[in-house]
Amino acid sequence: MIRLYDTLGREKRPFVPLNPQRITMYVCGPTVYGRAHIGNARPAVVFDTLARLIRHEFGENSLVYARNVTDVDDKIIAAAVAEGVDPSVITERYERHYLEDVGALGVQPPTIAPHATQEIPAMIAMIARLIELGNAYEAQGHVLFSVPSDPDYGVLSKRDRDAMVAGARVEVAPYKRDPADFVLWKPSGEGVIGWDSPWGRGRPGWHIECSAMIRAHLGETIDIHGGGLDLIFPHHENEIAQSRCAHGGLPLARFWVHNGFVDMGAEKMSKSLGNIVTPAELLAQGHKGETLRLALLSAHYRSPLPWTEALVTQAKTNLDKLYRAAGDAQPGAPDAGVTDALSDDLNTPLALTRLMALDDPSAVKGSAALLGLLQSSAEEWFRGGADEGAIETWISMRAQAKKNRDFAAADRIRDELKAEGIILEDGPSGTTWRKE
Ligand SMILES: [Zn+2]
Repeated sequence: MIRLYDTLGREKRPFVPLNPQRITMYVCGPTVYGRAHIGNARPAVVFDTLARLIRHEFGENSLVYARNVTDVDDKIIAAAVAEGVDPSVITERYERHYLEDVGALGVQPPTIAPHATQEIPAMIAMIARLIELGNAYEAQGHVLFSVPSDPDYGVLSKRDRDAMVAGARVEVAPYKRDPADFVLWKPSGEGVIGWDSPWGRGRPGWHIECSAMIRAHLGETIDIHGGGLDLIFPHHENEIAQSRCAHGGLPLARFWVHNGFVDMGAEKMSKSLGNIVTPAELLAQGHKGETLRLALLSAHYRSPLPWTEALVTQAKTNLDKLYRAAGDAQPGAPDAGVTDALSDDLNTPLALTRLMALDDPSAVKGSAALLGLLQSSAEEWFRGGADEGAIETWISMRAQAKKNRDFAAADRIRDELKAEGIILEDGPSGTTWRKE
């Protein structure tokens, strides 16, 4: 039984899907105008892990996982203008990079990846419906959602009106009836990407794309809606308002699942603060994707994750140990302790602790797979010569073997390292190493 924390209900509840043969999960995906940083990669890894758990529990084909691509947005338009290219040049480039980056972290492709630019008719239809119902209005080429028309607005973020207006840093625009109202459609000037609509040539606001694409691909009420904590307000609050008003009050999602930030020092990692580290940089430095994945899973998904070099080093050391423990075993059934930890609101730190303590190689391999780890062979992992972290791991394993009076194992480790040009030297204060 999987239990998940629901941000809207503010409680952990058993996850009982509406239809266990067709479980629906939607996660807000990237706006493709720049390279993803490691904080952007966290939701991709967290929800990939949740998808693996759901498929393990309910069956390989039980889950429809949608992650959208926002490929029309003012930041994209600005980037296209800056480079003097069509917006599609920007979006295709950065979508490709995004898929490469999260792919390197072992993130499997979602079942569907709807693109905003391909779904404009569905958005126009939903906007028209909201106008018809009195939840939206047209003004000066814009269509705005009328926040006062929805008495339940604020149900997710539980903010009062003034805090909501301040939190959204809303523009007080002359065409708005209320400062909290938000844009569903806006006009596109000459030479700016746009589509014909009943309200003139324009483009959608950001929030409507998710509501419209969820309805088009998954249904009116889905099982899980996910994303980063920063999306709770205003983005998810606005998605809820649009969808509930358009669908006669039906809830948009039964579980709202939000991951915490990746922090750099005391600050959230963010492009606007300029303190970002990207998977691309880390991979170029020689870190392996699985190391970054394990580092991202080492804190509970709802907790902040401080990103440090020590975190990455520890993840590498742990993977070296796991690969050594698994050897070239075939994956067996996952260990019950590991699945229990994951089923308890995706408790990955506890799952990793239990994984590290397993000694049956096929259980190690099978349990790690549920976390998206140990996806290559031990030989591939260690190929290319041992690096310093791996050598230290070997040395401590050899010390352990000697302590256990397993001198054959200790000698094997020494000989294997020698074959890679690493000489161990035993001294009074322990073992040191040098290159041959
Ligand atoms: Zn969204």
